[in-house]
Amino acid sequence: QEPLVIVGASHAGVQLAASARELGFDAPIVMLGDEPHAPYQRPPLSKGLLSGKTDASQIALRGPDFYREQAIDLRLATRVTAVDVAARRVALADGSHITFGTLALATGARCRELPVAGARLQGVHQLRTLKDAQGVSAALAGCKNACVIGGGFIGLEVASALAAAGAQVTVLESQPRLLARSFPASMSDYLAQGHARRGVTLELGRGVVALHGRNAKVAAVELDDGRMLDCELVVLGIGVVPNVELAEQAGIVCDNGIATDALGRTSAPGVLAVGDVANMQWQCGAAGPSRMRLESIQAANDGARAAASVLVDRPQPLSAVPWFWSEQHDLKLQMAGVASAGDQAVLRGDMASDRFTLFYLRGGAVAAAHSVNRPAEHMLARKLIAQGARIAPEALADPSIDLKTYSA
Ligand code: FAD
Repeated sequence: QEPLVIVGASHAGVQLAASARELGFDAPIVMLGDEPHAPYQRPPLSKGLLSGKTDASQIALRGPDFYREQAIDLRLATRVTAVDVAARRVALADGSHITFGTLALATGARCRELPVAGARLQGVHQLRTLKDAQGVSAALAGCKNACVIGGGFIGLEVASALAAAGAQVTVLESQPRLLARSFPASMSDYLAQGHARRGVTLELGRGVVALHGRNAKVAAVELDDGRMLDCELVVLGIGVVPNVELAEQAGIVCDNGIATDALGRTSAPGVLAVGDVANMQWQCGAAGPSRMRLESIQAANDGARAAASVLVDRPQPLSAVPWFWSEQHDLKLQMAGVASAGDQAVLRGDMASDRFTLFYLRGGAVAAAHSVNRPAEHMLARKLIAQGARIAPEALADPSIDLKTYSA
């Protein structure tokens, strides 16, 4: 029997292999990953690993025996260089080939590069891999002034960790407000104030012109208004680029990632794509179906479960409501559903106390929710969104009304 070959040994690839075995898939599985470490969790890289609360030995995705017990032939430090769909084989960097029955591309994403002079100076870091995180941790010790370029989730988490470690941190964001793609203005403003109150300086609507060095080491960031910010450490958090090259070269349809249906099936028969690299069809509760390339653990896991169901001919399309979390200072943010511009925002709780949920109604139904330090409400919101629950705004805003009564 030809194997299932999985390219990429991280959240999506590992979940696909695990789900395939859970469902009784009994063909050989070969998982090829180009990093040297056994598969590990990425979220702690910008959280516990930087704050020192977690160390590298605690972030393995699965225990050491998992791969052997599940008959998963995990090959690390192994890079796939080409995919031949017609011949049903992949080429490896060492010149060898592996034939597949089914191929799954779980190649994830890589950090976007900053296209300015000085971006490769020493002291300029990106954050995607364990090696990257270890580099930032090492640079953190004794750092007085740090600059985070990019005010997205990862940039803001890094800023929190750097501030907690005692550095003076400036976050540079080219948009006029934080997380403008994910949040309405009220949430962006709330978050900006939260960071400012906790000692992080925000420069919004500001571009970077160049990074300047001294003795090959970064020493200052030049802003587009002419100012120079002195710093010994720069962390880039300006987004990622999906690793679509193998798929593109193989003639598989790509459109902001590898385009797939709700089962992770690509345009090539017998080739699946999952995780950050996949632009998958999502259901989104009452909001209806929508194709999205979501960069989240849930998207990797739920997408992989859907793709695994194809392997055993019991298709279970992706039907989950998207959700995501982020930890910044003492704020646990949890997001469910996808808010959009025309939604009616309803606040439940109190922003000033850092405990609230901002719900979004679309056509009277709960479509999305952003919670801060309200984990139980977030869990309930996910159900309400999946069910398309209709709740009057006054009831949603009234803390004396138990929202569980609206959940079927
Ligand atoms: P990846 O994790 O990117 O893994 C892809 C793997 O494939 C990599 O190891 C890559 O090296 C390998 N690869 C690529 N090309 C090849 C090739 N040709 N041959 C062999 N191997 C190859 N999500 C959340 O939901 N919550 C969070 O709080 C959160 N925090 C995060 C913090 C950080 C610092 C980062 C970087 C990400 C965070 N994420 C978070 C996002 C989450 O980690 C990703 O969505 C998830 O890792 C996607 O998994 P993946 O398996 O699709 O891709």
